[in-house]
Amino acid sequence: MNLSYWEIQTWLSNVDYTIIGSGIVGLNCALQLKKRFPKAKIVILEKGILPQGASTKNAGFACFGSLSEIIDDLKQHSEAEVLELIRKRINGLKILREILGDKTINYQNLGGYELFLQSDDTLYNSCLNTKDKINQLLYPIFNTGVFSFKTNNFGFKNIKSDYSFNPFEGQIDTGKMMDALLNKVQSLGVKILNNTAIEAFSEDTSTVKIKTKHFEFSTQKLFIATNGFAKQLKISEVKPARAQVLITKPIENLHVKGTFHLDEGYYYFRNIDHRILLGGGRHLDFRTEETTAFGETRIIQNKLEELLKTTILPNIAFEIDHRWSGIMGVGKQKKAIVKQISNHVFCGVRLGGMGVAIGSLVGRELADLVE
Ligand SMILES: Cc1cc2nc3c(=O)[nH]c(=O)nc-3n(C[C@H](O)[C@H](O)[C@H](O)COP(=O)(O)OP(=O)(O)OC[C@H]3O[C@@H](n4cnc5c(N)ncnc54)[C@H](O)[C@@H]3O)c2cc1C
Repeated sequence: MNLSYWEIQTWLSNVDYTIIGSGIVGLNCALQLKKRFPKAKIVILEKGILPQGASTKNAGFACFGSLSEIIDDLKQHSEAEVLELIRKRINGLKILREILGDKTINYQNLGGYELFLQSDDTLYNSCLNTKDKINQLLYPIFNTGVFSFKTNNFGFKNIKSDYSFNPFEGQIDTGKMMDALLNKVQSLGVKILNNTAIEAFSEDTSTVKIKTKHFEFSTQKLFIATNGFAKQLKISEVKPARAQVLITKPIENLHVKGTFHLDEGYYYFRNIDHRILLGGGRHLDFRTEETTAFGETRIIQNKLEELLKTTILPNIAFEIDHRWSGIMGVGKQKKAIVKQISNHVFCGVRLGGMGVAIGSLVGRELADLVE
């Protein structure tokens, strides 16, 4: 199909900045570019009908790290690096809440919990014994102790009788957050072209030529915000990681409220609209889950259902309403990659399981790479 003169003139000519990916990073990159360069023509190319990676698929935890995760991070990173990771998550969440407003994204500060399997003495004791040290480490950020241990009041089974609690964690409505972000970006005049996958790009001295499945055009600068799909555009440090989720139908008198990590964060669940949303289990089949293909597998979905029955909702009747998956971008290090790739091309990728927290900041940092 040949595009019309009007289509070419209006959407694809004199483009200053092109962003690939309309996830939380791509959209925040657009916001920051618009703020810095109000007159710039900005186009976002998105392969999905909706954003189709992780930003519309996630669990909506507004969190910055469970006790066991921070202890584990300290095995691979220095204290300064761990503090920096946590600071970035907190700053990212602050930006997200400031840009959109707590009411819009339904931010609720219900606290975060870490549950320990009854059989996992090692992890439980390590968290119990290291709690004070971690609280001390985090003191400069929070000016108070973050983690405490509380008695299991939610009726969970097969777990230790107390869990760790973090009062600073919250949860958002992921759909509302992304809807508001998309509206905000479009209201500023940024053009989002959906169902438009970038196939390749090439650079000459002053521009970048972009080839999509429908058309080709040129842009002054290109920003890659494709996270789990980054390898397809030759960013080899990022591996895809599929994450599967399920949600129950509404449950009468559901008392479980908050965000919960279980078994070192391999599983996570929360309340939403009187339902339980539960995800995780990637470690049961890491190799199969290292994919950019959406889908659910029996091994993981069965385990999630079993956990609901035996551990999370042991004496409560429930039905599964819906299942889905999303694609994250992970790598050897937890730090996101925000860098210039070549003269006119930049990327902000590898957000792991923390993109709700750091996505807004990474998007901003990505936009700030351009002079
Ligand atoms: C199930 C699940 C649960 C999660 N839970 C949480 C949580 O509770 N808290 C938290 O902080 N984080 C969570 N995360 C992680 C978080 O969602 C991600 O880190 C974050 O959304 C990444 O945002 P992004 O913009 O970098 O990537 P994405 O949202 O994946 O956006 C990348 C976009 O690029 C598009 N794209 C890719 N290739 C191309 C191409 N060639 N051409 C055009 N477009 C392309 C994709 O369609 C996609 O829309 C979860 C993730 C998943 C999957």
